[in-house]
Amino acid sequence: MKEVILLKQGEIILKGLNRRRFEDLLRKNICTALRAFPEFQIREAQSTIYISFPEGTDLALPFAALQKIFGIVSLTQALEGSYDFDKLKQQAAEYLAPALNRVKTFKVIARRADKRYLKNSPQICAELGEFLLERFPHLTVDVHTPEATVFAEVREGSIYLHTDPVRGAGGLPAGTGGRGLLMLSGGFDSPVAGYLMAKRGLEISAIHFESPPYTSPRAREKVIQLARKLSVYTTRLTLHIVPFTEIQEHLRDNCREELFTVLLRREMIRIACWVAEQEGSRCLITGESLGQVASQTLGAICCTDQTADRPILRPLIGTDKQDIIDLARKIDTFETSSLPYEDCCTVFTPKHPKTNPSLEEILREEEKTDTKPLIDRLEIVTERITPWN
Ligand code: ATP
Ligand code: MG
Repeated sequence: MKEVILLKQGEIILKGLNRRRFEDLLRKNICTALRAFPEFQIREAQSTIYISFPEGTDLALPFAALQKIFGIVSLTQALEGSYDFDKLKQQAAEYLAPALNRVKTFKVIARRADKRYLKNSPQICAELGEFLLERFPHLTVDVHTPEATVFAEVREGSIYLHTDPVRGAGGLPAGTGGRGLLMLSGGFDSPVAGYLMAKRGLEISAIHFESPPYTSPRAREKVIQLARKLSVYTTRLTLHIVPFTEIQEHLRDNCREELFTVLLRREMIRIACWVAEQEGSRCLITGESLGQVASQTLGAICCTDQTADRPILRPLIGTDKQDIIDLARKIDTFETSSLPYEDCCTVFTPKHPKTNPSLEEILREEEKTDTKPLIDRLEIVTERITPWN
């Protein structure tokens, strides 16, 4: 029996004139995600994508990879069943047995995309339903709240049979919304922020600031590992690593301690904007959440925004920590983020940071600290991360 994976596209079908571009990117992202299964075939009809593999392929692995592709709302494994209805009924009994043996109630939904088929949808429902009731006497039909629904979809020479589809990753295909630079720390929040913006179609690259020897090589490894986990959703990810030690030491030695945190963040934002400009990223993304720490009060945010030359997207700004952690678990970054290595933001942190600094005092303080020569000689390392390297 030949099985396929059926994918339903989500919002793409609403995209009017841009639809072709969205579909092409989705197809490209699917092909990248399935590169470990070189012999698959992909085709599309009536906003359903069909992916078939050589007979005998275990579909569990490609199915799991496809569940992570943005732009797909639902997916299911299906039997590419016979066009001959008597044969199809026999195939249905065999193929659906594991699913139907687990439940007590079911119903059949038929769709006839191929209108030449000699039975119409109500006939297919009635005849297939009756046959399954005979074969599985423990079952009864419940048309309102069945435990399982059997779908029979008639399309181009085959009838596809499957049970309830599962939810896909949703969102829009990565890359359809332009490019953004994620400020990636080793914490819980920033990987989740990157995931959420990639889900809305942004192609993501990342920038990480490190301060050796105050931060260790293991802290860098942790961030690379997080970037790799994110690249599962984005298919690849460019990571820029910025050596930040000299700038931090310079601020520590030259500015008022209680303003250190915000001054530091402004330096990060300036460098990130410069990198974003070089690589064509039109926005920055951070994992900030209002009020979470001293640098995330409204006053501090106003001070950091003022130095940016492009929008800073903060998808978690209104999200509680616990909800962020739940998402981190869902996207599989939780365990890596839990590793205890230090971040540059925790180096030289003032005992009493000013929680609501005014822009005037920040600008006055910056006049005393000229970091430009230090920024000009930064040696930024760039790595290309994929789920496989
Ligand atoms: P996270 O859990 O993402 O580390 P946080 O709660 O620890 O966030 P902060 O340390 O104030 O909060 O950082 C706020 C945001 O600044 C982070 O979400 C991230 O986007 C960015 N950021 C912090 N540290 C770094 C770093 N070392 N490199 C790049 N970006 C950083
Ligand atoms: Mg942090």
